[in-house]
Amino acid sequence: AQERYASIRDKPAETLCGSVISLTMNAGLMADLPSLPSSGAEGVGLFRTELQFLTRSKVPRRSELAEIYARVLDAADGKRVVFRTLDIGSDKVLPYMKPQDEPNPALGWRAIRVGLDKPGVMRMQLQALIRGANGRPLTVMFPFIAQLEEFTRARDALLREIDREAALGRTLPESVEIGAMLETPSLAFAPNSFFEMADFVSIGGNDLKQFFFAADRENERVRRRYDTLNVSFLSLIELIVSRCRDVGTPLSFCGEDAGRPIEALCFAAMGLRSLSMRPASIGPVKHLLRRSDLREARAVITQARASGAMTVRPAVMEWLRHQN
Ligand code: PEP
Ligand code: MG
Repeated sequence: AQERYASIRDKPAETLCGSVISLTMNAGLMADLPSLPSSGAEGVGLFRTELQFLTRSKVPRRSELAEIYARVLDAADGKRVVFRTLDIGSDKVLPYMKPQDEPNPALGWRAIRVGLDKPGVMRMQLQALIRGANGRPLTVMFPFIAQLEEFTRARDALLREIDREAALGRTLPESVEIGAMLETPSLAFAPNSFFEMADFVSIGGNDLKQFFFAADRENERVRRRYDTLNVSFLSLIELIVSRCRDVGTPLSFCGEDAGRPIEALCFAAMGLRSLSMRPASIGPVKHLLRRSDLREARAVITQARASGAMTVRPAVMEWLRHQN
């Protein structure tokens, strides 16, 4: 199968109707980076920085992190890398962090909430990112933003560190993009100013789906109960697409579902133009996208929704069976 995909590796994910979908990869370890050239990914759409924190016995040093981030950018060789700031808590527990006794860790003190309440570590990480960029473009994404104010505070923290680095006479990034992960339904309903202020938005579908259906992503008993192609979830995706489109903010999807070809096709049909996934999924997703007409896919989805279906999956599968 890898060979089948090798032939399209350097071709764009262009659909039959002429839409070009940007396919990027998710990463988190240095060991992931050789996949960047081999997978055909256009860049790293999600770099999970918590992995350097999870694989150590204490908080990594700023210089050590800056060196890692610089090496990631070296390996990317000019391709865009989206660094997601530390996303800990809930399912990601740091061995050296005081255990929190929380009744509902998934709804608890995690990700940006920790970063804003205990700004020391986040500041250190932001400094390491600026230094690691060392004059190159820097793209930073804050996880688990639930309301506008969390984004403005996180963004201000990064801008402040840039000012401080400038005052120290250090080399600044050539350009800075600051985005937010949309992982809670609340953010889809944020004021327009959020969508205007964000340089880009990325849907963290793993968490977004967990919170939308109130179904724990770690709980085998419930986690597969609700289909990603459920019409209610697609309506939420549609809303997010339109809110971003209204103000011209780039939108991507970086949860695991982006790497599933049928889901990826439906997201593209709903208007998403950027998907980030594990490297091995790029070939299969690109293969299906290149054989598909998104206008037809959209019509199938629209019809299934109008018919009162609970999920559009059977209709999309049936349509795909008749394609070749
Ligand atoms: C997500 O929630 O979809 C996501 C990409 O982040 P993570 O899986 O690391 O929580
Ligand atoms: Mg998440």
